Amino acid sequence: MLRRALLWASRNEVLARRLPRLGFVQRATRRFLPGEELGDALAEAHRMAEQGMPTTLTRLGENVDTPAQADAVLDHYREAMATAQEAGLDTELSVKLTHLGLDQDLDGTANRVHALLEVMPDNQLLWLDMEDSSYTDRTMALTRDVGGDGGRLGICLQAYLRRTEGDVAALEGTRTPVRLVKGAYRESSSVALVEPQAVDRAFAVLTRRLLEARAEERLGRIVVATHDTALLDEAARIAGELELPSDAWEYAMLYGIRPDEQQRLADAGHRVRVLIAYGSEWFPWYMRRLAERPANLVFVARQLLG
Ligand SMILES: Cc1cc2nc3c(=O)[nH]c(=O)nc-3n(C[C@H](O)[C@H](O)[C@H](O)COP(=O)(O)OP(=O)(O)OC[C@H]3O[C@@H](n4cnc5c(N)ncnc54)[C@H](O)[C@@H]3O)c2cc1C
Repeated sequence: MLRRALLWASRNEVLARRLPRLGFVQRATRRFLPGEELGDALAEAHRMAEQGMPTTLTRLGENVDTPAQADAVLDHYREAMATAQEAGLDTELSVKLTHLGLDQDLDGTANRVHALLEVMPDNQLLWLDMEDSSYTDRTMALTRDVGGDGGRLGICLQAYLRRTEGDVAALEGTRTPVRLVKGAYRESSSVALVEPQAVDRAFAVLTRRLLEARAEERLGRIVVATHDTALLDEAARIAGELELPSDAWEYAMLYGIRPDEQQRLADAGHRVRVLIAYGSEWFPWYMRRLAERPANLVFVARQLLG
């Protein structure tokens, strides 16, 4: 119930305009967001690198209104990549297609993704986030059209969607890198699994399928993106069974969520990439983080009480 309310709030424009102005709300976000500026994110990327963890950057924002806004997002990401490269960071990018203009036109968005791929160093991937299910077909189509068999454009797939096994099948053979997540949006039961246990089971089944496809070189790098210890351990077990080399797959977790677990896995020799989100348009993203674990509201309440 609380989860659904928080996910509803994440799409509410009035709340998105008003709540971020409140000081206590801003303070509460610091746990998951290092700051609003690129420099804040890069400073944390340096800190993570010192702890043995590479990073992925994502600038918060979605559903722009005009192509000019999407062009500005592209310019920002070009600058972010150039700065990260100059600093010698192992940092990748993850972008939302609606931030790059998908609500306006597919071709313009594809051109922007193409332009971003051109500034990515050969050994680093560009990732497409997966948004709500009304965008899945277009995200899949764009991944295939722009990424082709190049293996440098990765896609995020959501275990809670009933269609995901079919999407994996459609990608097999293309060397596409795949990041598996549980899924963060409010979806109807006709398209998504609703029971958490069913989502966990689907995640485990998909992890095996993806890692097996990776072992046979039918997909690119596999990223197991979760904070769920049982699923993290299961992925390591399957990768061990398949004798996958350590650079064939990796874990990814969100900045500020279970940092102790991130460090434990990195210290144990696993590749753990931390996704750092930053920027001023954090409201919908932050609401989705609260929805994942409503106990986080206690932390917000503590900020409210000073
Ligand atoms: C690198 C990365 C990229 C992602 N990209 C996308 C994307 O493109 N599209 C998309 O739909 N979703 C994305 N997600 C979000 C994902 O779908 C889940 O909503 C999110 O990861 C929480 O699910 P979980 O797998 O950690 O499992 P859960 O069952 O939600 O959590 C497992 C445990 O992790 C801890 N935990 C999880 N979330 C929180 C939190 N917010 N605060 C505190 N503790 C927490 C708790 O201890 C919890 O018991 C991404 C997640 C990661 C890690």
